[in-house]
Amino acid sequence: MSHVFHRHCHQALPTIASGQGVYLTDTQGKRYLDACGGAAVSCLGHNHPAVLEAIHRQLDSIPYAHTGFFTSESSEALAKILADLAPPLINRAYLVSGGSEAMETALKLARQYWVEVGQPQRQHFIARRQSYHGNTLGALSVGGNAWRRAPFAPLLMDTSLIAPCYAYRDQGPDECAYQYGQRVANELETMLLEKGPETVIGFIAEPVVGATAGALTAETGYFTRIREICDQYNILLILDEVMCGTGRTGRFFAFEHEHIVPDIVAIAKGLAAGYQPIGATLVADPVYNAIANGSGFFQHGHTFMAHPTACAAALATLTTLEQEGLVDAAEKQGKALKTALHHQFDSSPFVGDIRGRGLFLALELVADKASKQPFSSTLPLAKQIKQTALENGLMCYPMGGTIDGKQGHHILLAPPYIIKSPHIDEIADKLRITLDTCLPH
Ligand code: PMP
Repeated sequence: MSHVFHRHCHQALPTIASGQGVYLTDTQGKRYLDACGGAAVSCLGHNHPAVLEAIHRQLDSIPYAHTGFFTSESSEALAKILADLAPPLINRAYLVSGGSEAMETALKLARQYWVEVGQPQRQHFIARRQSYHGNTLGALSVGGNAWRRAPFAPLLMDTSLIAPCYAYRDQGPDECAYQYGQRVANELETMLLEKGPETVIGFIAEPVVGATAGALTAETGYFTRIREICDQYNILLILDEVMCGTGRTGRFFAFEHEHIVPDIVAIAKGLAAGYQPIGATLVADPVYNAIANGSGFFQHGHTFMAHPTACAAALATLTTLEQEGLVDAAEKQGKALKTALHHQFDSSPFVGDIRGRGLFLALELVADKASKQPFSSTLPLAKQIKQTALENGLMCYPMGGTIDGKQGHHILLAPPYIIKSPHIDEIADKLRITLDTCLPH
């Protein structure tokens, strides 16, 4: 009997033994190609010597010191690199231990900002359906994943949800992609007017939607319009780049593709490439200054924040991304992987859409390609695909369940940025073999 409280209480999982590059090996000696980085985490692959060495060095000097007493060289250097990577207006990083913490920080920061500037009546967030921002109660409150929210609904903050930008499912026959993007962006304005803009703290979105909709990018002009509306009605724009940030889309920040700057942005998963747990909430100067020049104290914090060893791992990760040109590699290999997926699946009657940006890609599965009819949400397809892929030596990230009566199943791919052409071929081949087994023929 395992005494670990596993999330899926009755699922037997292989025990991991080691990892090297894009492969993981279990204690039975079975090898898996990591085509999803766990959950878009392992951007450098496994066992990267530069990160291991940085962690060892930090452990040899000072593994941990509480931020109430000391700052550390590794956290100062990490925050400086993040500020250098970010647009000029963003100069502060609040360092935490993961994605949900980074989003909780973003929410509380945004609320405290309005309190500091004398607008405490702002108490409401607007976010999007088919989104996920974390599993803690605050982050869950602003997420639109109905299934994850359901058991906790009575405990969650009241959040207004608008449509995501989901052209494959929603674009009308009489509108072009741009018009569609503008139409759904304008839902923010409609919602603001309904709620009263003076009561709203901010708007929250993933620039590329991850787990809930499968690498869903917005149409050109969508986020420009969102930024415009936030400015016009004076609300904060909070971006969740926990999954799509840190180079995964081929730019360090996914919002760079959109030519906008958020007021607050959360990053996590790829920040230390999985070598240590870490997240960060990056803050634009006006938000930081309101607190620094107001009460001078952000009323939030965690014991393990700015953890020196986690910061050392993140610092080494960012240095390696830069030295090895891996953000550009994510863009280049992403295109190659997308081409391979098109080659392999364009003729499949069950792959409705192949989408995403950089090495953040997804296949949307459909029961009928012409009508885009999803497979039944009661079908345990995601579980079957994950299991069969593992048996075939492939880690991929299938998700299922109908949300808002629309989306059915998708498979997310987010391999390490170090992948090369033979790995891309192996991913496409193993995925085809897996889908041939799991989907009807
Ligand atoms: N936001 C997004 C977009 C995510 O994908 C996730 C994790 N899947 C989170 C927040 C929460 O991060 P964590 O699991 O590290 O708490």
